[in-house]
Amino acid sequence: MKHLIPYLQDDQKAADYLRQLRWPDGVTCPRCGSDAVESRERCDNGLQRFNCVHCAACLGQQFAMFTDWTSSIFEESKLRPLEWLLVVGLWQLKLNATEIAAAADIQERTAQRCINLLDGGLYETYHLDPTRQLEHQVEADECYQSAGSKGLPREVERRNRAPRQRGLQLRGRATAETGRPPILGLVQRRDKTDPDAPAAQVYLEVLENVRTATIKPIIAAKVKGGSQFFTDEYNIYHFTKADYDHRTVNHGAGEYARRDPDGACVHCNTMEGMWSGLRNFLDRFKGISQRFLHLRVGRYEFLHNHGHLHWRQTFEAALQSIFSTTGDYLRRMTHQHRRMPLTLCYR
Ligand SMILES: [Zn+2]
Repeated sequence: MKHLIPYLQDDQKAADYLRQLRWPDGVTCPRCGSDAVESRERCDNGLQRFNCVHCAACLGQQFAMFTDWTSSIFEESKLRPLEWLLVVGLWQLKLNATEIAAAADIQERTAQRCINLLDGGLYETYHLDPTRQLEHQVEADECYQSAGSKGLPREVERRNRAPRQRGLQLRGRATAETGRPPILGLVQRRDKTDPDAPAAQVYLEVLENVRTATIKPIIAAKVKGGSQFFTDEYNIYHFTKADYDHRTVNHGAGEYARRDPDGACVHCNTMEGMWSGLRNFLDRFKGISQRFLHLRVGRYEFLHNHGHLHWRQTFEAALQSIFSTTGDYLRRMTHQHRRMPLTLCYR
């Protein structure tokens, strides 16, 4: 976080830095995209005001103003640029709302909202990015994360179901409905022969259940055809034989890794190691609501996939990603009061 210190002197410096990340090639109007903009006076909180000459002419007005934050997820926030900069830095350190509130000296509820905004922005632009695909050697595995409508009896009542059961009272594979949503993990192994190769790239999706019908479209969209595909013996993955070089290890028979005659190492150890990292991360939130689980998992995915970069590069990549969204996903999600079905996301 050291590189943030010069920008944390006052709101103007923080706003200037954030503007640089939003418009690295010069400020353009968020409404029409024109670069015919003129700087005006600053707002009280240090944000720069601009006038779009093009929009003003179209509207037949003298001015068409916008600020550094118009049409971004920060637009409706009352936090100052300096506070936001600090919050984003702490957010990247994977702190929870209580810790961020204490460190940035803001209300805990505000910190919670900030986290949801940042995670939601990243989820929309990074997690849902259809161009991100895995290839070469890909492992798949699933895990189950306890998540419920924690501490909200009203919510439990509204959805007309019994409170989440705790412990291992349930039989069979867990589902979102039984309070333990499965998470599907796909990971492209890091190319160990190339010292500059990026970290193992991972794709994590929170599911309603682990049926073939649920995971098939996700795997088809995220893993390039022809890749080597490693799983355990679980039969939901059998369909991948058609499009991938599918190989399995038989955990039931005590087999955890083997080398095939063609030299391929068959195992899911990369993905299984990832689960312990994810669990450590999710434990920081001290019980997690099902509504927000996928947003937290999305942040872990982003930070993991950028793990080979310098802290500052990751910070700037996250902010640039967040600046490219308007927060539309979160608004729709808030409206629905629940996690958006995947079918809606992949339209
Ligand atoms: Zn304009």
